[in-house]
Amino acid sequence: MLGSASKAFFHLLAQSRTLKKLATRFAMRTGTPERRPRWGPGAPASFVRRFVPGETVEDAIHAARALEARGLTETFDHLGESVTTLAEAAAATTDYLDVVRAVIASGVERNISVKLTQLGLDVDRASAVDHLRKILELAGPAGFFVRVDMESSRYTAATLDIFETLWEHGYRQIGVVLQSDLYRSEEDLRRINALGARIRLVKGAYREPKSVGYQKKADVDAAYVRMMKVLITDGHYPAIATHDPEMIDLARRWASEHGVTSDRFEFQMLYGIRRDLQMMLVESGYRVRVYVPFGRDWFPYFMRRLGEHPANVAFVLRGIVSERR
Ligand SMILES: Cc1cc2nc3c(=O)[nH]c(=O)nc-3n(C[C@H](O)[C@H](O)[C@H](O)COP(=O)(O)OP(=O)(O)OC[C@H]3O[C@@H](n4cnc5c(N)ncnc54)[C@H](O)[C@@H]3O)c2cc1C
Repeated sequence: MLGSASKAFFHLLAQSRTLKKLATRFAMRTGTPERRPRWGPGAPASFVRRFVPGETVEDAIHAARALEARGLTETFDHLGESVTTLAEAAAATTDYLDVVRAVIASGVERNISVKLTQLGLDVDRASAVDHLRKILELAGPAGFFVRVDMESSRYTAATLDIFETLWEHGYRQIGVVLQSDLYRSEEDLRRINALGARIRLVKGAYREPKSVGYQKKADVDAAYVRMMKVLITDGHYPAIATHDPEMIDLARRWASEHGVTSDRFEFQMLYGIRRDLQMMLVESGYRVRVYVPFGRDWFPYFMRRLGEHPANVAFVLRGIVSERR
């Protein structure tokens, strides 16, 4: 995790519409079919593609096949968030339904992640719920698992509320995400775990005020460890989503000390991040799911990843310089 000042700086950049427009026009361009071969030896690695395999579902499925060939699994995220009109929310829902169909047709694993603001939570909550239901109605019977991602603390209560309501209505192939940087999360964990639902545990990608969240990395990590322990011994196929080797070691040790076998939980990491650690875990017999984001709206996601890790900024700068040559 970066210092909170630079995390805040990248979050600010992530919200810039002008930068987003510019970046979307230029940064992925080197990877488009008109400009160069998309895959294989002739395809230079664009600095965005390291973290986002492409703009289309075909790009994402291609990436998923490569992951599966190495013993990993995946969840697809069709990038997009914070839509401001119902028409955009409806379009995002249609896109997701198309993703579900494409994944079914491809034969890769059926697992997707969705954000409620992409489905219209900011515009009209009831419509966002309807949109999510539509996705669940198509994806559920086809054997998908649908993870509702967690966004900033502005949306925590609404997201959990919607999740719990859908659970009450009998939807079972859904799961949610809890962030250890929020004070409320340990209480949320107890309640949601009691339902029997699947939880993905993360540290939290958003800059949160001290009224709602821990400001020091040590406190976020300590809460992560407490929540991870509960999930591994008493959770329901939890996802331990982190690239932090210390957290991963602790999770492995806690599981083995408590007789929890490696098929009762999974590790999750983001596409392009700590691929060495992903493979080390698979080779040691653990399940690892990679979060595969794709789509035209990659800019805010990409900026959050830069904000988390200074080395990524250097990686991007190197990429820009070498692609200009
Ligand atoms: C599968 C998955 C799903 C997620 N879903 C959500 C969600 O729904 N809501 C949400 O708020 N957050 C989500 N996150 C992001 C999460 O909250 C963290 O912001 C992110 O994972 C970085 O924290 P960390 O646990 O990896 O550890 P940190 O303490 O941030 O980092 C530990 C080490 O991990 C490595 N590392 C971490 N981040 C990066 C990076 N960007 N690039 C390169 N190396 C890195 C570095 O070696 C670093 O030293 C998700 C993360 C994963 C892996």
